[in-house]
Formats: sequence, structure tokens, C-alpha cells
Amino acid sequence: MLRATAGEYTVQALDQSAGCGTCRCTLRGNLKKVFTYSESTETPRRVTRARRPFMQDAVAVGDRVRFAVLRPGFGVVEEILPRSSRFARSAFRGRDQTLVSNLDQLVIVFACAAPHPDLWRIDRWLAIAEYCELSAVIVANKRELIADSEWPGPFAEYSRMGYRVVATSAVTGSGVATLKRMLTDKVSAFTGPSGVGKTSLLNRLQPALRGETAAVGGITHKGRHTTTIRELYPLSGGGWLADTPGLRQLNLPPMGRDALGECFVEIAAALEAGCRFGDCTHESEPGCCVTAAVERGEISQRRYRSYLQIATEVAPRA
Ligand code: GDP
Repeated sequence: MLRATAGEYTVQALDQSAGCGTCRCTLRGNLKKVFTYSESTETPRRVTRARRPFMQDAVAVGDRVRFAVLRPGFGVVEEILPRSSRFARSAFRGRDQTLVSNLDQLVIVFACAAPHPDLWRIDRWLAIAEYCELSAVIVANKRELIADSEWPGPFAEYSRMGYRVVATSAVTGSGVATLKRMLTDKVSAFTGPSGVGKTSLLNRLQPALRGETAAVGGITHKGRHTTTIRELYPLSGGGWLADTPGLRQLNLPPMGRDALGECFVEIAAALEAGCRFGDCTHESEPGCCVTAAVERGEISQRRYRSYLQIATEVAPRA
């Protein structure tokens, strides 16, 4: 499913024998509803209630679907296959809004300079990726603005943790081929603050993308409120890119401190040892495995502070 707007869905056929590359589809009516069936064993099973699901979108960009071609270029979606992941933003106009289904990885774009990388925000994005069980790629764009001696600078911390960090320049094109390889055959979404070069990188990755998208609103991360434009763009080398402006405002949902700790890879490793107290806040209690790992240098002071800061927001003390 490449595009979902009210009533019309653009689907890309993976099996070219379906007779078309992309197909404009409607949704079979029953896919939009949740049915309740009669429970009696004496009479044949029948639908007793059909209602539209309120809390979840029936279909979203990224969904794998089965569809029938009615005439060239037009069809009907008959089945939505189970989702392997669902990237949603909660409490949007009172309900969950699925931004993209079956996402494989989050591409977190920051700049080496202009603007300076905000490590606290990188930590947040990584935590969200971990929480959603997505792999993460950190892109350090505008690499040509810093000297070789300054690289990898603050990004080294993330490589040490095991994250993939790729240096790119949308101006010189360096690193773009490496990034493209990382996107091949995956469903990826770009995120990061404005001004870091996401749009420029996307256009470098696939110059035609800009032209292709102009008709439907264009790839733009500036439109903070254009939440209705949700699209998946096929990449020429294989794979898809999700362009969902709503991704930028994602927050971690409320959770316990240990659950948040699991979203910080090095804290998760430390938590395996177990703290003396079951309700440890990992701040000042004796026998805390997290503060012990900080003292041993296994968790950096900065990441620990970042964890505590996010904990005050998503895991307030009772
Ligand atoms: P977005 O808001 O993240 O989509 O960022 P844009 O792609 O709109 O880029 C913001 C500004 O940074 C523009 O003026 C770009 O020309 C510039 N820019 C983007 N990539 C690079 C880069 O690799 N190096 C340099 N020096 N400038 C860049």
C-alpha cells in the first residue's frame, strides 16, 4: 500500500503478473468494519453487529494487501495481511493514528554542523526505534562542513553502542551510495529536526522522487501540519521510503523506568544484572545495577542523564 487517502488506495503489485505496476483501489466494504457474530450454536453463525473500528485505522500505508484487478490500473483490496509492525501516534484527535505499517527501520538524520547535532534528541529517537522494535540508522549529514579531524566526534558514542552511523553530504554526494545500500529492500522512514538536510538527501537518493511527488504534494518536511499526506515511495534500487511528517512529533508513551531502560541499549545490558530493590528508580538506591554501570564507565554520564530526563516525562514516580 503506497498511498492511503479517503476512499482511494494506491497499491504496488509485487507480482507483476497481476497486470499492472501500481493500481488504484477501493477497499472492500467489510474490511473497514469489525464484525460481531452470534454465539448461539443452534442457529447458523450470523453477523449481529458491524461497526467501524474507532481506535485503529483499518488500512495504512505500508500494509501488505491482496487485491483483485478489475480493469487495467484499477482494483479492489480484498484482504489486509497481518502487520509485522505498526508505527502509530497515539491520542491524535482522540484515537491512534497509524502512520506506517511494516516499517523496518528508522533513518535518524542529524547534521554534523549547522545545526549542531542535538544528542539529546538523537537519544529520544533511538529510544523510540527500540520501543517500536525497529532497527535504526543514524545519518550524520553535512559531513563536508567539518574537518576530518572532527569526525566522528559526538557520533562515535553511537557507533560504540552498536548503531550504524553513516556520514553523508547532500552537497558533495559522499556517503549517499552507502546510505542507499542500507535502504535496499527495506521499508524505511526518515526523521530528524528540520534544516538537517532530509529533503536534500531524499532528492539525492532518487532525483526523480521530487518530480514524482510534486503532483501529490511533494516531499517536504516543512509542512508540520500536513498530517494527511502519508506515502510510501518505491526506490529505484529496491525498497520503499515512508514520507510521514507526523513522525517528527512522535513521543514515547508513558511506561515504567525499566521499560524505558530497555530502550537504551547499554542500560538494558546493565539491567540484566538486576537491582537490589525491585522498585529501584536507578537514581540513588544502594545495589543499583544501572548506577554501578555508570561508575564502571559502561554507561556514559551523558546517556545516563538523558535517560533520567526522559524518565521524568514517561515514567514519573508514583
Ligand atoms: P530538511 O529540513 O531536513 O528537509 O533540510 P533541507 O533538505 O531543506 O536542507 C536544509 C538546508 O541545508 C538547505 O539550505 C540545504 O541546501 C542545506 N543542506 C542540505 N544538505 C546539506 C549538506 O550535506 N551540506 C550542506 N553544507 N548543506 C546542506
